[in-house]
Amino acid sequence: MRALALFLFCALAACRFEPVSERPADAECDCADGRDVADARPEADTSTVTPPPTEETPPAAEADTVRVTPDEAGAPDAPARDVPAVSDAGLAMPVAGIEPDDLVDTFEAARSEGRTHNAIDILAPRGTPVRAAVAGEVVRLFTSDKGGLTIYQLGADGRTVYYYAHLDSYAPGLAAGQRVRRGQVLGGVGDSGNAAPGNTHLHFAIWRTADPADFWDGTPVNPYPLLAR
Ligand SMILES: [Zn+2]
Repeated sequence: MRALALFLFCALAACRFEPVSERPADAECDCADGRDVADARPEADTSTVTPPPTEETPPAAEADTVRVTPDEAGAPDAPARDVPAVSDAGLAMPVAGIEPDDLVDTFEAARSEGRTHNAIDILAPRGTPVRAAVAGEVVRLFTSDKGGLTIYQLGADGRTVYYYAHLDSYAPGLAAGQRVRRGQVLGGVGDSGNAAPGNTHLHFAIWRTADPADFWDGTPVNPYPLLAR
């Protein structure tokens, strides 16, 4: 039975892989030196995708806009040191120690082959904790030539994907299918993939997917204004 399941999985992955490679690379990462491209999409792995709720869910920008007032942030079950600041849009800063003013909006920056960045790069020293921007589910841990160690996370709305690339490491025990809290440490900043050696940063992208089974594909959303205030 396991062999059959494995065969079906491989067959599915194989038949999915080819079209993926032909998709427009919309998560390109190109940093200061222009050599950094993190546009890899993993082959489909439907076994790790939890079907979304059947009811209609609001857009991510609304679903994740749970504002945390100082009073709420001071809840006794959440140690203050582990509660990252949350933006007006409800996102936790995905890199520890980074302030909104540190961010640079390179979402629309031109990249090679006529593409755009469709992401922002957050520079930080190697190993700096990478945090979940929102609560949701880790749908895929994937290692690609371009993105290096990457994480695909599906937000609670089941439609918004959060992509973290060039990691140095994953948090111990992190696995696909795992639910994570907003602010939970997912890994550490690095320069894996085709980031220039030593150019440690988080390539952070958000997109809206029409189908969570196709979590690697969707309409890019600029993270900058969602994090900058
Ligand atoms: Zn990038």
